[in-house]
Amino acid sequence: MTGSNRKPGFQTRAIHHGFNPAEHHRAVTPPIYMTSTYAFDSVDEAEAVAEQAGAVYAREHNPTTAILEARLAELEGAEAAVVVASGMAAVGTLLLSLLSQGEAIVVHSTLYSNTFAMAHDGLPRFGIKVIPVDLANPANLDAVLDATVKLVYFETPVNPTAQTLDIAAIAERAHAHGARVVVDSTFASPAVQRPIEHGADIVLHSLTKYINGHGDLLGGALIGDAATIARIRGTGLRYITGATLSPMAAFLVIRGLKTLKLRMDVHGANALAIARMLEAHPKVAWVRYPFLESNPGYATARRQMSNGSAMLSFGLKAGFEGARRMMDGLSLIARAVSLGDAESLIMHPASLTYARRRTNPAAKLATGVSEDLVRLSVGLEDLDDLLADIEGGLERV
Ligand SMILES: *Cc1c(COP(=O)(O)O)cnc(C)c1O
Repeated sequence: MTGSNRKPGFQTRAIHHGFNPAEHHRAVTPPIYMTSTYAFDSVDEAEAVAEQAGAVYAREHNPTTAILEARLAELEGAEAAVVVASGMAAVGTLLLSLLSQGEAIVVHSTLYSNTFAMAHDGLPRFGIKVIPVDLANPANLDAVLDATVKLVYFETPVNPTAQTLDIAAIAERAHAHGARVVVDSTFASPAVQRPIEHGADIVLHSLTKYINGHGDLLGGALIGDAATIARIRGTGLRYITGATLSPMAAFLVIRGLKTLKLRMDVHGANALAIARMLEAHPKVAWVRYPFLESNPGYATARRQMSNGSAMLSFGLKAGFEGARRMMDGLSLIARAVSLGDAESLIMHPASLTYARRRTNPAAKLATGVSEDLVRLSVGLEDLDDLLADIEGGLERV
């Protein structure tokens, strides 16, 4: 790396960026700083650090966390990042930092269920207008963008459908009207897709998923220009949500990040093979996976993703009941929410929503999520074992 101007590759930066052992007693692995506060040699020094928004208190600053933040910003091609306690903490911290009463946000019509709830039930309580738009056709934006719209917010690939949205086309239209673009890139991770390179302003991640990748913690991140991230840290994180990521969790995410690209290569290869097998299966009605040629977003996916990641959705000809029978016939793949882990995980959003209605009659499926939709997070197990398990499940239908 030294003595040359060439930029190290993704994998090298995922392992080394933002950490110099010489500054940490020569430890090769970043240490975990378990401290809630920082002591100063003088009152003057404390004031100087505070003035520069430096490390005064651990709600906003921690040396272990700072390494993770620098690394995530670098890998997404951004100036800065702030990490928080979960993906939903990132959603709340972002929206409550950047939006005020009387302003509006455009969201894609299909969203991760809890972001859907935040948009439709949460934000309106604060006088923030939410405008759902089908962003599969970016021209739909033109009719709704006006000076009150501050943000355009979407996921790509979309949870749980695995639909692909065109980041560059949406960003171009949003920017023409002065709105900023937020992409929740959780389904892809920066090893596969870097939204800022396609015109997005802010990238959101649930670190819980691929970036940590081991299913053992919750975390979230917001990545973008330095001024916006400073504002989010200094308002949203400091006094609106206070949703700080623990240094222990930051350490584990740093560890997970070291193998992100290696994992995504295997995730992507496994998922493409499973998507093709499902597409050819007589009991399967439809399959959606970004890198399937039959996917309506295929050209967009090829343009903005380096592989298809490992989230796919499908429906069986036997519909809602077929989905349940198939899932109950699996022995390796876990019936579980969450995604992006080494373990393959499968879920049926309609069953979960209908179960929730027993306690909350208003629970509803997100727009665009059909009753038959099964979401599969393809893990890192041997492909033959995964194919055999899915075949076995389909035999039960
Ligand atoms: C899981 C998820 C979130 C929320 O993240 P948590 O870490 O579970 O709070 C947000 N967006 C997407 C796309 C997700 O899959």
